[in-house]
Amino acid sequence: MSDHDATEWRPATRAIRAGRADNAGALAPILWASTTFATETVAEARDAATGISPSHFYARYGNPTVAAFEDAIAQLEGAEAARAFGSGMGAISSVVLGMVSSGDHVVVQRQIYGATQLLFQNVCPRFGIDVTWVDATEPGAFAAAVIPGRTTMVFAESPANPRLDLVDLAELGAIAGPLTVVDSTFATPLGQRPLEFGVDLVVHSATKGIAGHNDATIGVVAGARELIDWLYSFAVIQGAVASPFDAMNALRGIRTLDVRLARQTETAGAIAHFLEAHPRVAEVRWPGLESHPQFELAQRQMELPGAQLSFELVVDPDDPMAAGRTFVEGVEVVQFATSLGGPETLATHPASTTHVGLSPEELDASGISAATIRMSIGLEHVDDLLADLGRALDRI
Ligand SMILES: *Cc1c(COP(=O)(O)O)cnc(C)c1O
Repeated sequence: MSDHDATEWRPATRAIRAGRADNAGALAPILWASTTFATETVAEARDAATGISPSHFYARYGNPTVAAFEDAIAQLEGAEAARAFGSGMGAISSVVLGMVSSGDHVVVQRQIYGATQLLFQNVCPRFGIDVTWVDATEPGAFAAAVIPGRTTMVFAESPANPRLDLVDLAELGAIAGPLTVVDSTFATPLGQRPLEFGVDLVVHSATKGIAGHNDATIGVVAGARELIDWLYSFAVIQGAVASPFDAMNALRGIRTLDVRLARQTETAGAIAHFLEAHPRVAEVRWPGLESHPQFELAQRQMELPGAQLSFELVVDPDDPMAAGRTFVEGVEVVQFATSLGGPETLATHPASTTHVGLSPEELDASGISAATIRMSIGLEHVDDLLADLGRALDRI
């Protein structure tokens, strides 16, 4: 990035070149495996030890390959800076435990990733952090729950698990006072950019669509440099650092994010319409469907509705688990596995796997039924996927 201003490029173009600033002309990302770097003088070592995110000092503080990944994410999100972590939860727990203190109050979205929910529900109370849960789909709910002078963070996720509920990003970004944070994993930086709506920090499980090949476990936070620098002082103590190898794989994945997301979205649209018309399917949720209750909002704030969808099977009241089980055991092109955003199309049945311990009432409160199926659309040919889904549905 020397003789041109990358911020003038469209995100798809930035994704091709981002994170190559210190590559000495190499087009592929460079893997720096070294955990430590030699310095000539005490002054240099002292600068590194007391500076912020030095990339040539010691791996927990920073690493050149990880720094290249952080630079790429900052460019894609339109952020001043980014900090990578060993996983999405490494990023989320660092943001919360590094920036919220005992006695503070936080507002959290009820429809949220399971481990994030456990962080706010089980860990925060141990540290004297009060949590108010709000329904993301209710207009004004986040702002109404803020206690002036006490609320220090508002944490949201959009689109959210499992019903693909959306948060109004402009409404969230307009909240003054507390730090506003959005987990934008389902969208990726090419699907939506929360910082453009005034949100303070965007977090990703880059394990998912950003790295995009099911071969890297990595998380990231992006925002104003002042906030990322503040977070750094906690992150270096917490130690949830990103592996250089995973950062390299994520950088490789980023170059094809635009084409992957475009293709996955197109296929997701075909599948959503197919499912919506199928007699064994009761309801389909995908932000690109006009039947999605927040379709207008999706049009306003998302570049693309994305690769994630969920649906409800028609159930047999005598054996509510049967339909979901028959479906996930019946698919062949689609694979029965957790995670999302990769080349493989995956289906999960939360009621018999991730949420198996919940009672019917608790499942209901989480927006999950015995017949809920969540799918991440991959890169297989759409006709093979449609034929496979048709066969699996016919067995129910
Ligand atoms: C997977 C996921 C996470 C957690 O990320 P890990 O990389 O598994 O730690 C957080 N939020 C969302 C929305 C996710 O899908």
